[in-house]
Amino acid sequence: MLDKVIIANRGEIALRILRACKELEIKTVAVHSQVDRDLMHVRLADEAVCIGPNPSTESYLNIPSLISAAEVTDSVAIHPGYGFLAENADFAEQVENSGFKFVGPSASVIRLMGDKVSAIDAMKKAGVPTVPGSDGPLDEDNERTLKIARQIGYPVIIKASAGGGGRGMRVVHTEAALISSIHVTRSESQAAFGDDTVYLEKYLENPRHVEVQVLADGQGNAIHLYDRDCSMQRRHQKVLEEAPAPYIEDSAREAVLKSCVDACIEIGYRGAGTFEFLYEDGGFYFIEMNTRVQVEHPVTEMVTGVDIVKEQLRIASGLPLSLKQEDIKLNGHAFECRINAEDPKTFMPCPGTVDYFHAPGGMGVRVDSHLYSGYTVPPYYDSLIAKLITHSEDRESALVRMKNALDEMVISGIRTNIPLQQDIVRDSKFIEGGLNIHYLEKKLGL
Ligand code: ADP
Repeated sequence: MLDKVIIANRGEIALRILRACKELEIKTVAVHSQVDRDLMHVRLADEAVCIGPNPSTESYLNIPSLISAAEVTDSVAIHPGYGFLAENADFAEQVENSGFKFVGPSASVIRLMGDKVSAIDAMKKAGVPTVPGSDGPLDEDNERTLKIARQIGYPVIIKASAGGGGRGMRVVHTEAALISSIHVTRSESQAAFGDDTVYLEKYLENPRHVEVQVLADGQGNAIHLYDRDCSMQRRHQKVLEEAPAPYIEDSAREAVLKSCVDACIEIGYRGAGTFEFLYEDGGFYFIEMNTRVQVEHPVTEMVTGVDIVKEQLRIASGLPLSLKQEDIKLNGHAFECRINAEDPKTFMPCPGTVDYFHAPGGMGVRVDSHLYSGYTVPPYYDSLIAKLITHSEDRESALVRMKNALDEMVISGIRTNIPLQQDIVRDSKFIEGGLNIHYLEKKLGL
């Protein structure tokens, strides 16, 4: 097992990783910006190192600082969490070249999946279902492009191969607008990502977001941990997730799960990962792979009983997967509400001091949060302050549990989106389940 790990992140996920390390008796080093010295996991870690000033570019994204921290503390590995440098292939490469283990896949796999055209190509070869599209980048041959779009049928979406975070995409409804939209997307992509490669695919009008969690050891073994539905989104940001995804035919589910496992073997995947799909009319369409632990991983942990972060650490230490596919049994249903420090109506971030924090509890209730009474949420980072997770034997009872847990939760001194979450779990359509990715924005009148 790894001897000492640097937790290269902050907030709830840093605490989540610290807890997993402690259970595996791995020593922990918290690295933090100046303002973050009061974070819960910094207090609980064996050692702490300040890696720079508050802006994340000078601290959590500061590669030389992170590698020096690993050197001075004699750490053996770096866990990147999610966000920040978690999917940065250059970081993974520099970590490994400096003699440390990166808790995640190899730099080359991160690079392969970070480029959408190469990712889709790899998925197709592995038998993962993809969105009908241009089969690679668009070239300067406008006639060919118009023909492809005609064959696929409008609306289509133009996407930057290097795009991410919901940027670098444009929906086109008519042939007349196609070529000019491609030019605009190309130049935006060049400006934002330094790469003007674009491709085209069918625009699905009312899909759900369904994703598959996998674990692979890079030694020829891979398994899936079933699926999640993350269709409740605002501006492409997930708000509430559940596992498993409701109303999916067993045969379609089995086929997509198997294709993800096959793809892991095919690309030599190592670590925890997620295959994201759009799901429409019974069909799955791959959109991207996330090569890291995800915010919503706890819903999968609750329904499978597998500690995903502990598995990441075991895999990084070189152990083969201890779990076999037949060991993974789905048990009940789980929900996760993301609690953000933001105004529930305007969604403006709302940093400040939490006067009082009371976490809900009881059977089947889990709170992943770094909050405590008196903690000040700084303005510099993401506004996620807690994840409230409930688990029960079926969807209906897990949702009742979530409703009650939200009503019990108290965070005073700052505004949070708890009222929004309370509204969603009382929504009759949401209670029925199986809504598409536009539902929440429509409900909010956006
Ligand atoms: P990013 O890497 O920027 O997050 P994704 O490829 O994951 O980009 O797409 C982000 C979101 O854009 C998806 O969750 C979905 O809402 C929408 N989207 C992407 N591709 C399509 C498509 N072919 N049809 C409909 N919506 C799409």
